[in-house]
Amino acid sequence: MGITDFFRPVDAQFDGGESEGAQISPSPQTLEAVPVPDASGSDPNPSPPQDAREAWRPEREAREAFGTLGGAPPSDVSRRRARGAAHDLQYDEWAQPKRGRNFVLREFREKTRGAGAPMAGCVVHFPAGLTPHVPQKITMSRILTALTKSQNALIESPTGTGKSLALLCSALAWQETKKAEVRVANERVAERNAAKTLAFEEACARRRHARAKEAKEKDTSVIVGTIGRSRGAPASDDGAGARADAALARELDEALAEHEKEKQKAFSFSFSNDENEPLGARARDEKVSFTLGRPDGLVVPKLADPDDDVSVHVIKNEPDSDSVPERKPFASEFAPIAPPALERPQSVPKIYLCSRTHSQLHQLMRELKRTPYAPRYAVLGSRKQYCPIGKNDEECTELTKNKNRGETACGWYNKKDAVVEELHRARVWDMEDLDTVAKSHLGCQYYAMRALHKNAELVFCPYNYVFDENIRKALEIDLTGAAVIIDEGHNVEDVCRDGASMEISVTELEDTASQLGSVAKFLDDANVAARLMRPLKDWVNRSLAESSSHASKSSKSSFKRFNGFSGPVEAAHGEALWKGDDVATAIARALAPRTLAGSREKKSGGARGDASAAVALARSIVADASRVTAFDGALVREISQNGNTFGLNAITTCHRVCAALLAALDAPAEFAACVSADLSRAGETDQKTSSTSFGAGDREKEKTEKNAAGLALWCLRPAVSFRPVAAAARCVVVTSGTLSPMGSLEGELGVSFPVKVEAPHVVPSRQIHVEASDVLGDFTAKAQDADGTPRALGQFLLRYLSRNVIPGGVLVFLPKYSLIRRVVERWRDDGTLAAIEKHKTVVWEEPGAQTLTPTLETFRRSIDSGDKKGGVFLAVYRGKVSEGLDFKDANARAVFCVGIPFPAVGDVKVRLKKEYNSSAYARSERMLPGGDWYAHQAFRAYNQALGRCVRHLHDYAAIFLVDARFARHADADRNKSMVSKWMRHLVRVFASPRESVGTLEEFFRGLEADPPGGEGAGGEPAGG
Ligand code: SF4
Repeated sequence: MGITDFFRPVDAQFDGGESEGAQISPSPQTLEAVPVPDASGSDPNPSPPQDAREAWRPEREAREAFGTLGGAPPSDVSRRRARGAAHDLQYDEWAQPKRGRNFVLREFREKTRGAGAPMAGCVVHFPAGLTPHVPQKITMSRILTALTKSQNALIESPTGTGKSLALLCSALAWQETKKAEVRVANERVAERNAAKTLAFEEACARRRHARAKEAKEKDTSVIVGTIGRSRGAPASDDGAGARADAALARELDEALAEHEKEKQKAFSFSFSNDENEPLGARARDEKVSFTLGRPDGLVVPKLADPDDDVSVHVIKNEPDSDSVPERKPFASEFAPIAPPALERPQSVPKIYLCSRTHSQLHQLMRELKRTPYAPRYAVLGSRKQYCPIGKNDEECTELTKNKNRGETACGWYNKKDAVVEELHRARVWDMEDLDTVAKSHLGCQYYAMRALHKNAELVFCPYNYVFDENIRKALEIDLTGAAVIIDEGHNVEDVCRDGASMEISVTELEDTASQLGSVAKFLDDANVAARLMRPLKDWVNRSLAESSSHASKSSKSSFKRFNGFSGPVEAAHGEALWKGDDVATAIARALAPRTLAGSREKKSGGARGDASAAVALARSIVADASRVTAFDGALVREISQNGNTFGLNAITTCHRVCAALLAALDAPAEFAACVSADLSRAGETDQKTSSTSFGAGDREKEKTEKNAAGLALWCLRPAVSFRPVAAAARCVVVTSGTLSPMGSLEGELGVSFPVKVEAPHVVPSRQIHVEASDVLGDFTAKAQDADGTPRALGQFLLRYLSRNVIPGGVLVFLPKYSLIRRVVERWRDDGTLAAIEKHKTVVWEEPGAQTLTPTLETFRRSIDSGDKKGGVFLAVYRGKVSEGLDFKDANARAVFCVGIPFPAVGDVKVRLKKEYNSSAYARSERMLPGGDWYAHQAFRAYNQALGRCVRHLHDYAAIFLVDARFARHADADRNKSMVSKWMRHLVRVFASPRESVGTLEEFFRGLEADPPGGEGAGGEPAGG
C-alpha cells in the first residue's frame, strides 16, 4: 500500500459498495443489458429489444478482441460517428488503433447506475448499492440549487460526512441535465439559423436572377459560371454590362462571405459537446447549394458534396420549352442584401472543481472513480509538478519553441498525444494512472493536460489557479459561464489575497528592465513595458536608500512623510510603508513624479485632489504596459513566431507586476505597499516570529529563503480576486468543514451567497471524547516560550501514553515549528523522548515538503507494526499535516490541540489586516472587526487540525483542547463556541488527572467491546 493510499479517506458507510474494478468493468452480461448511453450521457435504455442485443453481440466480441489486442474497438468509433459527437470527432483519429501502440490502462466501459434520486430538477445517481446520508443529501440539494439558479453558495459539511462524493455526484448530475437542455435548445437554434440561411441564399439567387434578366433586356450576354468562383469567369462582352456583372458578383460574393463567417461563428464552439455535435456536423456537412435553374428565380436547395464550397450556380438564361412564363423582377430584388444575424448555440458549462493542494485533488479523483459518471476531465498542474525531466518554465519554453512548426527539442512533448489518446480511451483515471501512462509512452503530462483541458467538462485544479489572474491567462482558463466549486475552501480568503498580491525583488526588477531594454532594440512595443519597469526599479532603489538613511538616524516615525498613516501600524526599520489612498500616490510617485510634483506645487485644490492627475497618468502607463505584455499580446506573439524565447520571462514578469499595480490603482483602499530591505521579513517588528502567521506555514518558510530587497503590494481584501471570478462564472460554490462565521466570509469575499448551509455530522456522539485541559495554563506566546513548557507537555502526554490508554496514532498540534524543535530537543535531553518511545514512536513535522513523505512512512510503520502500539506525530497548525492529510481509524485515535493558533502579531500584514478590518469602510462592507477577524483566523486553523480524526461514520477518537482558555476561564464559553459545531457541546472538563484517564480508558474499552458499525451500534449523531 502506498503512502497516498494509507491516508486517503474512506467512508465506512460505503464499505459495502462495489469495488472500483467492479464499478468500472461490468460483466459482459451487464454490457448486454445496459447499452452505452448516447452522447449526452443520458440514461441508457434499460431493456433493449432482443434483436438489438443480438445485434450487439458481434460488436461486443469485436470490442473484446480489440481490447485483447490493445486497440480501440471499431464499434466505439462508428457509434461516436453515428452520434456525431463534436468532441469525439477530434479524438476519432486517436481512437483508431495505432499500429504498435500498447495501451496500459483498461479501456473505458460504462458503469452500472443505481436508481437515481430526483433532486432540484436533476436525477442524481450514487454509486450502485450506496445510499446517501443526511449530510450528503443536504450538501447535494444545496449544490444543485446553487447550480440550477446560478447562485453562489457556502456549504459547511463536517469532515467524514462523504462531502466529496456528494459534491461530485450532484455537480455531474446537474451537468448531465444541462446537456440534455442544451441539446434541445441548440436544435431549435439550428432550425432557426437554417431558415435564415435559406432565406438569405434565396434572396441572393433572386437578386442575381433579376440582374440577369435586366442584362438580357439590354441584350447583353448571360452569365454563366459558378458565382463562388466568378471573379475570373467570362461574363459579358459588353464593357458596361461586364462591369455591372462584376460589381454584382462582387457584392454577392461579399455578402456570401460575410454570411459564411457568421455561420462559422455560429457553428464553432469554445467547448464542443455532444449536444452541439449534430449542429456542428450539420454546419460542416449540410452545405446547401442553390441552383437558379428557372427564369422565374425558383430556387431548388440541394445537399451538396461536403467538400464543395458553398455555391450558387447561375445557368444560361436561354428560352426553354419547359420554362414557366417570364416575369419582370420586383424592385425589391435589386435592393442590397444583408446577411442575416445567426444565433450562437449554447454550450454546456464547464465545472472547475478546485481544492487547495494536489493531494486533495487526487482524493477527489479517486472519489470520481467510484461515481457512475465519466465526464471528460483534466487535472491542471504546473511544470514543476508534471515535468518528468525537471525543467522549469523557461527551459521548457526554450525546448518547445518549435511546437507550432512540428517536432520540438523535447521528446516528451512530441509524444504527448499518445498520453492524451490513452487517457481518452480510458476515460476514468487518476493521478497514479496518469503517471503510469506518461512513463509508458514517454509523453509529457503537462502538455497532455493542457490538451485535455480544451474539451474537458470537468477540470480539477488548485484554487489559486482560478483566483490568480496571471495563472488563469497562462493556462487559458476561461471561467465565463462555468461553475466553480471550491472544495476545502477554508483557505479561500488567504488564497484570494495572495492572488492579488505581488512581491518582486530589486534584482528581478533590474533584470526585467534590462531585458526589456534589449528586446526594445528590435521590437518597439517593448519600449512601452520598459517605460514602466525602469522608473519603478529606480523608485524602489531610491526608497530603499532613503529608508535606510532614515532608519540609521532614528526610528520608524521618520517615514511619516511617505506614509500618510491614519492608523497605528507603521513601517519597521529600513522600510517604507503605504496604506489606502497613499498606495496610489506612491505608485504615481514612481511612474509620474513630475506630474505629481507639479500638482503639489499648486496651492489650490489640495494635494489629494491634485494627485489624481498623476495617478491617472500612472494608471495609463501601467495599462499600456499590461496590454503589450499580455499572454496573447503582440509582443509575445512576435517573439514566439520568430522561434525565440529571449525576453519572454521579462515580459511575463512585467505583466505580473502590471496586474498587481492596476488592481492597487483601481482599489487602493484594499492594498498596502511596502519597500523593504528583506522581503522575507518585511514589516516584522518581532524577528523571532515565524511559522504560523498570515497564511500557510509552508509559505512562510519559502519566503524566509528569499532574503531579498524589493517591493511588496499586499492585498488586504480577498474580494479583489474573488469578485472577478464570481462575475465571470455562473456561480461559485465554496465548501469546507470549517467556513463559519459565514457572514464574515461573505463580507471578505465581497459577493452575496444566497445559498448557505451547515450540515450536521453523521458520527454518533459515543464515538467522540472531547476534553478541555488546563494543565499547560493559558498557552499564550509567552507560555510557549517558557522554559518549563516542553517538560510539562511531555508529562501531560505520558499521563495517557504510559498507561497505554490510547491505541494507534496520536497527533499533537503546536503553534509553531520553533516550538516543536525546542520540545524535541528538550525531550531528548531530559529523557522524556525515551520514556514516550517505550510506548509510541515519536515523529515531527519540519518546514517544507521534502521530509514529509519519509516522516509519514515512519509514522505509518509504527501503527502497522506489532512491536509498538502506534506513534506520536508532532505537527504545526496550518501545515500540511493539519490541513492536507486525513488520519482515519487507527492513524489518529487521539488529537491534542495545544494552544490556539492566533496569527503572529509581529507580522505587519496581520496588523495591517486587523487595522483595515476595523476601519469604517470595512465595517460598512460587513467585514468582521479586526479583533474578531483575528480570532476567527485562529479558530479556522484550530478546527482544521482537530478535524484530522473521525473521518467516517464508523471512526472514533479522543480530542483534547489543551489550553486553560477552554477550561476554567472567563472566556471559556466564548472560546468553546468557536470550535466546530459538531463537537462543541461534547466538551468536558475533569477535576483530576485520574478522572480524565479513567474516563478515557472507559471510552476506548467501550468502543473496543462494541465497535461502531457492529451490532448494537447507534446513538445520536454528534451534530445533534
Ligand atoms: S514539454 Fe513537458 S517534458 Fe518537455 S520540458 Fe516541457 S514540461 Fe518538461
